[in-house]
Amino acid sequence: MEKRLCHIIATLQVVLLLLLVSCSSSRQDEVRVVSVTILPQQYIAEQIAGEHFDIHCVVPQNSNPEAYDPTPEQLINVEKSVAYLRVGMIGFEMAWMERLSRNNPDMKIYDTSRGVELIEGVHTHTHGNGVVHATHMVDPHIWCSPDNVCIMARNICDAFVELDPEGGDYYQANYERFVRRVEQVDSLMTDILRPCKGTAFAIYHPSLTYLARDYDLQQLCIEEAGKESSALSMRTIVDRARDAGVEVVFVQKEFNTRQVETFAQEIGAEVVTINPLNYDWENEMIHIAHAIARE
Ligand SMILES: [Zn+2]
Repeated sequence: MEKRLCHIIATLQVVLLLLLVSCSSSRQDEVRVVSVTILPQQYIAEQIAGEHFDIHCVVPQNSNPEAYDPTPEQLINVEKSVAYLRVGMIGFEMAWMERLSRNNPDMKIYDTSRGVELIEGVHTHTHGNGVVHATHMVDPHIWCSPDNVCIMARNICDAFVELDPEGGDYYQANYERFVRRVEQVDSLMTDILRPCKGTAFAIYHPSLTYLARDYDLQQLCIEEAGKESSALSMRTIVDRARDAGVEVVFVQKEFNTRQVETFAQEIGAEVVTINPLNYDWENEMIHIAHAIARE
C-alpha cells in the first residue's frame, strides 16, 4: 500500500515537472520585448519589427520625456527587455539610462540618433522638485523631422537585424516600405511649407528646432531655462515676435500655457496645440505643417 502511494506521488511529480517544463518553454517562445523612450519611436519601431518584437514605450502619453521618472512597473518592463532604443540625448535617458542598464546588464542599448546632424544649444528641463537640468548642449527633439526619422529608422532596422539575424530580409523590407511613407510625408510637408520659407512661428517649448532647420523656418522659443520667462525676457520675445510677424504660437499639453495665452494676445497670434509626442507621427507632422502655413 505504502509502495503504491510512493509510486503515485512519484508519477505526480513527473507530471508536475513536465508541466513546468512545457510552461517555461512556451514562455521562451513569447515575443521578445524592446523598450523605447517615446511614442513616436514606438510607432517607427513597430513599422519595422512587425510582430517579431513587442515594443514597450517607457514615457506614457501626456508626460514630459525630459523630466519623467518611471514607475516601479515601468522599470520591471524595461528589465524584461532584450534591447533599449534610445532617442539619443533626451532628459529621461540622461537621468535613467545608466541605472536601467545596471539593472539589466544583458540589455543591448542602441542610440537611434547615430548619424543625425545634431543641433547644439542649451536645452533645459525642470523636474517636479524644481531642480533644473541642462540636457548636454544638444537639442533632443530629433524625431520632429522626416529626414532624421529616416536615419532613426535605419538605426532601428540595424538593431533588429542584429537581435534577430534570421529576420534580416523581413526587417529590411519593412524599413524600405516605411521610408517610402516618410518620404511621402516629407514631400507633402515641402509642398505645404513652400510658400512660407523664412516664416517665423513661436512655441512655448522648442520642440521643432529640426523641423525649422529642414524647412527653412524660424522658431522663437518662449520658455526660458525650462521655466516661464521672466517679465524682462518676455518683453524681448514679444518684440522679436512682432518684428518677425509671428501669427501662430504652438503649445504642448505637457507644458503650462498661461504665459502662452498672454503672449499670443499681445502679438495678436493664434494659439495652436500640437503634440510632437503623438504615436501617429505622420499625421502630427502634417498637422504642424498646415498650422505653420495657416491653412
Ligand atoms: Zn523638449
